[in-house]
Amino acid sequence: MIDTHCHLCDKRFDKDREQAVERARVAGVTHFVEIAYAPGIVPRAHDLARRHPNVYLCVGVHPGESAKVLESYVGELRDHARHARVVAIGETGLDFYRDHAPREAQECWFRAQLALADELGLPVVIHQRNALEETLSILEAARPAAGGVLHCFDDGPAAMERAQAIGFKLGIGGCVTYGHEALDEAVRLASAGMLVLETDSPYLEPEPRSHRRNEPALLSRVTKRLCELRGWTSAEADRITTANAHDLFRVPLG
Ligand SMILES: [Zn+2]
Repeated sequence: MIDTHCHLCDKRFDKDREQAVERARVAGVTHFVEIAYAPGIVPRAHDLARRHPNVYLCVGVHPGESAKVLESYVGELRDHARHARVVAIGETGLDFYRDHAPREAQECWFRAQLALADELGLPVVIHQRNALEETLSILEAARPAAGGVLHCFDDGPAAMERAQAIGFKLGIGGCVTYGHEALDEAVRLASAGMLVLETDSPYLEPEPRSHRRNEPALLSRVTKRLCELRGWTSAEADRITTANAHDLFRVPLG
C-alpha cells in the first residue's frame, strides 16, 4: 500500500518517527507521500526522505499558511519542487472552516500553485474545507494538466463526478470509516481508477478510534472499509489503489 498523504514531520512523531515508519512497513505500507505544506517543513521532509528511500515529497503552501508566506516564496518553492523526490505540489486549496488566512490570500496561493504544477508537469494535492464549490470551480476552470487528488475526500456522488470529469482522484482515508452515508455512496460509485489511500497522519484516525494519534500503519483500517464498500478482497484493494497512486504520482515501485 501507498500512504499518499501523511505528515510524519509533525512534532507528534518527534518521539517515535523511525518506529512509526517501521510499524508501517510491517503493516504493508511500502511508500509514503509526505506533505510539506509550509516553508519550515520542507528541510525536515528532505531529511526524512534522505533516511528513507520510500518517502516521496509533496511541497507547497497550505491554505491555512497562505497569509504567513510571502508571494516571493514561489521562486524558492519552484526550486524545491524540481528535486527528484518531489512528486506533487500542495497541499493547496481553500479552507473556509478555519479561516486562518483571508480568502484572497488563500486563492492567490491556490492559483499560484496550480500554475506552478502545470509549469513543472506535477499533479496537485487539494485541501478544501467548507469550500467545495469554490475549490471545484477554480479546478474546473484551471484543469491541472497532470491531474491531482481531492485529499481527505468526504463528499457525495455529485462531487465525485465533478472530480472524475477533470481527471482527479479521491484521497480515501479515515473519513470513510466514520459512517458518512454520502461519502460511502460516492466510494461505491466511483470508478476504481479514482481511489487512492491516505491517512493524513497524525490526523483523522480511522475507526475504531483511540482519539490519540493516527499513523500510516493504521492504513489497513481504511482498506478494510474500502473492501466492504467495493466488495474487494484486501489484495485487490492493495493492487488497485497502489496502481492508482503510481499513475498519479509516478512513484517508482520496487
Ligand atoms: Zn494534510
